[in-house]
Amino acid sequence: MELLNPKRADYSFLDLETQGILKETINFFEKKGKAKLKDEDHKAVWYDDFLHHLKSHKIFYQLLTPTTYGDKTTRFDNYRNCYFNEVLGFYGLSYWYTWQVSILGLGPIWNSKNESRKKETSEELKSGGVFGFGLSEREHGADLIGSEMVVSEVSPGKYIANGKKYYIGNGNVASSISVFGKNSKTGKFIFFSVRPNHPNYKLIQNVVFSQKFVAEFELKDYPLEESDILSKDREAWDAALATVAYAKYNLGWATIGIATHSFHEALNHSSNRRLFNSAVTEFPHIKGLFTDAYARLIAMRMFSFRACDYMKAASETDRRYLLFNPMVKMKVTMQGEEVINHLWDAIAARGFEKDMYFEMATRDIRMLPKLEGTVHINMMLVNQFLQSYLFDKKPAPKVPFFKEPSNDSFLFQQGTTTKGLKNIPLGDYEEVYSKFNTPNLNIFREQLSAYKKLVEYLDLSKEDQTDIDLMLNVGELLTLAIYGQLILEYAEYDKTDSETLDAIFKVFVKDFSRYTVQLSLNHKLNVAKQELCLKLVKQPHHDEDEFEKFYRNKVLALKDSYSMNP
Ligand SMILES: Cc1cc2nc3c(=O)[nH]c(=O)nc-3n(C[C@H](O)[C@H](O)[C@H](O)COP(=O)(O)OP(=O)(O)OC[C@H]3O[C@@H](n4cnc5c(N)ncnc54)[C@H](O)[C@@H]3O)c2cc1C
Repeated sequence: MELLNPKRADYSFLDLETQGILKETINFFEKKGKAKLKDEDHKAVWYDDFLHHLKSHKIFYQLLTPTTYGDKTTRFDNYRNCYFNEVLGFYGLSYWYTWQVSILGLGPIWNSKNESRKKETSEELKSGGVFGFGLSEREHGADLIGSEMVVSEVSPGKYIANGKKYYIGNGNVASSISVFGKNSKTGKFIFFSVRPNHPNYKLIQNVVFSQKFVAEFELKDYPLEESDILSKDREAWDAALATVAYAKYNLGWATIGIATHSFHEALNHSSNRRLFNSAVTEFPHIKGLFTDAYARLIAMRMFSFRACDYMKAASETDRRYLLFNPMVKMKVTMQGEEVINHLWDAIAARGFEKDMYFEMATRDIRMLPKLEGTVHINMMLVNQFLQSYLFDKKPAPKVPFFKEPSNDSFLFQQGTTTKGLKNIPLGDYEEVYSKFNTPNLNIFREQLSAYKKLVEYLDLSKEDQTDIDLMLNVGELLTLAIYGQLILEYAEYDKTDSETLDAIFKVFVKDFSRYTVQLSLNHKLNVAKQELCLKLVKQPHHDEDEFEKFYRNKVLALKDSYSMNP
């Protein structure tokens, strides 16, 4: 497993069309150069040139049109989309955002039974269209049930929509926006397409100061026909949640892209900076910071690739992706923040300077844990699996590693994504852990078995399980167990060397100890429970020679291997 280096990226294992898209997109950004990239970011310049690039190479058409609605070049394949996500994050979250909200906006369309709208959408994608997803409203945040956008039937098959939406990406230029609302008479949900170029669509403002356009808009007696309706009632509700269920996966890759570019930039700076007659990268604490940042980044990539396999394997009978996707969204994005924190401590003042990609990264990395469901919401989702993951361990088939081109059609027919989560068979994580043996991995396994006993001893009541404050602490530990499992599954495929695995699990032993201390401080725990928590705190294994070797061969070896064209 390697970190992305766009100037040396070898995508030869992907099909030719995908290789072309990735290379052309890297060229687009490298040709623009860092000075212009940063200047446009500071001036919040709308990225017409990028939309032109997407259009001229038919990129969204190829990557976001399911095979049934396109030609031979199109498929909705999350595996290849990982790489595109990563490249966009690498050069700037604003660029990634127009892609992400298009994916969200297309969700309710591909999910629907409205065949004519789907064919139209394919044509719009072919001619370079981007899309939007109109779920959020200013007053209601995560509370979709509170939506106030209403649709009224004025005569059979004819409707008008009225209401406002807030935080809607691409709301200035989208070919269409999939808008969520309610039937004014019945209060039942409805998804419909609106066109921003219609006179009854009022664009009010961009609510952020940024290159991306995050719109507030109002529909005033916006006319709709039956052909504009995507779904109604329960199907509309399911379409909203199903779309977020797979699209939230992309946030992990945006994070990886941002953190990887920051890593290159920070390492180049620190390794070339001399203080007190020494390169900064020779100070012991700086070595630690870069090594942890590197290990976290590799782990983020490994986990996300493996979670992709589960998404590609998804079916009515295998819904494990409903556990792993929220983890990518929550855990990987928070790990990205950790990476930036490590790197920022290493480069200090340089991280604030206007010519650095890093300066933009410190702002953008914060967005990803908060969007498409906050960390809290995703943690509560993951916690629903506590019993089944740790104790039930119902047998589940091994998921293959999907590397060949394929279309992920199940994602547009997921049905309900919120029911029966506790009964999803998850297999036996301890079996996966038992195949590996490195000093820190073994300490981590001890922590995991102590955690299992702790959860039994905590004997969480129904009331405890709805106490979000307590469950966020419990969930951090559960999350680490699941995170490690998928990383090991990927390691089996990738034949990851044991030094890298040990470096990753060294970080996890420290994180596990930290989270356990946090849990022990929760006021709900009595003294006996607090003491049991503290038994999970372990010191990681450290061998100075091995550490030094790993640092020089894997981490420091990347210095000056990539810098963006000026
Ligand atoms: C730059 C940007 C772009 C965006 N783009 C889009 C877009 O294109 N389309 C779109 O529809 N939306 C978009 N959004 C909206 C985004 O998805 C919302 O920010 C998100 O849904 C959370 O809502 P909120 O931020 O208003 O938080 P709130 O809903 O106000 O939440 C407040 C707090 O309560 C907690 N909370 C709420 N509910 C629960 C719960 N059930 N369990 C536990 N904790 C809970 C949250 O974790 C949070 O800490 C965008 C937002 C931004 C900032």
